[in-house]
Order: sequence, then structure tokens, then C-alpha cells
Amino acid sequence: MIGSSNAGKVAEYRRMLSGLAMRLLAPSDLDPVPPEPEEHHDSYAENARAKAEAYAAATGIAAVADDSGLDVDALGGAPGVRSRRYFGEHATPAERNARLLALMEEAPQRDARFVCVVALAYPGGPTELFEGVVRGEIAKAPRHGEEGWGFGYDPVFIVGGDGRTMAELSPDEKDALSHRGLAVAKLRARLAAEPR
Ligand code: IMP
Repeated sequence: MIGSSNAGKVAEYRRMLSGLAMRLLAPSDLDPVPPEPEEHHDSYAENARAKAEAYAAATGIAAVADDSGLDVDALGGAPGVRSRRYFGEHATPAERNARLLALMEEAPQRDARFVCVVALAYPGGPTELFEGVVRGEIAKAPRHGEEGWGFGYDPVFIVGGDGRTMAELSPDEKDALSHRGLAVAKLRARLAAEPR
């Protein structure tokens, strides 16, 4: 069970876990659709664990779920674990990015990191955690690739050596170096070595 109601995230998981000897289900494949658990903890790990365990308990199927976000040094780690809601529940991604850049106008430095913790929960436990981190810098202005790649804060996060933002990487390039890609690579190795 890929424990997310975000179609973009489900697609990333399907791509990164393809070829394993297991069937991958999304919540929308089940009837009734299991409810999306709340994220109300203060750490990525606790949120990921709670979500995966809730999906496993609700469905009786082994579940993966993640929590992720953008930690900006000059903002004391914000928007961090509240990345989705920090700039307002109903703000569009473009509005969030504009507000982040406005907060960064006076910042002495622009270091940031994307973090992802993936939890793997089995009905009856125990739960395992896998973490991925990618370091980068906040851009001065948003930049997208021509194909409209990426989502969320991708257009304002410069990653790697050549100055491109995460939204200028192809899906394969993003999978190879993103926080979620790194965490899911560890999960994949674990599932391939020792399925339960
Ligand atoms: P959640 O893990 O679904 O709670 O998402 C947290 C929020 O962090 C997302 O809504 C985005 O704003 C941001 N975020 C997490 N991962 C990424 C990413 O790969 N690219 C851009 N933004 C991300």
C-alpha cells in the first residue's frame, strides 16, 4: 500500500518500486478508500510512522508512507515539517514560493535541505524508517524546466553543481538525487533483500 492521496507522490513511488515481486496499491484502489491520516507531530519521522501505521491498521496490508519538507537554515529550519501549510492552507505552490523568496530577501545565506523520511509498517509491526537528505540553496527566482517538471518548492531549490533547480531536472534525474529518491532507494534495497 502506497500510503498517500497525492497522485504525484504515488506516481513517484510506483516508478521507484517497479520490478519488485509485489503488487503496489494506492488508497484509491480500495473500496472503501481508507481515510488519509492527519499529520500532527513535530518531526518527519513521527509523521511518517503514524501515517504508515494508520494505513497498515486500516487495510491489513503492509504500507509505506512518508513525510517530507524543506528546511531553510536562515529561517531556523522553517518551513520544515509544516512545509505544506506554512504559507497558508490554501496558498498555491507559486504563492508559497513567492512568500518564501520574500522572507529570504535579507537572508545572509541561502543554504537549505530537503528531507524525506519513509516508514514501512506491517500490520502487527515493527515499523522501519528510511531517511534521505539533499542539500542545496534557495534560488533568487523560481525556475521550471520546459516540461513543467517537479512540484511544491522544486522551482526555488537549487541542487547539485550545475545551478539547476529541482524543477529543471527530469523525473529520472530527480529520482536519482532527491531526498525522496534516496530514502526510497534504501526502502527498495530492504524490500528486495528481505520481503516479509
Ligand atoms: P508531505 O510530505 O506530503 O507532508 O509534503 C510536505 C510538503 O513539503 C509538500 O507539500 C511540499 O510543499 C514540500 N515538499 C516535499 N517534498 C518535495 C519535493 O520533492 N519537491 C518540492 N516540494 C516538496
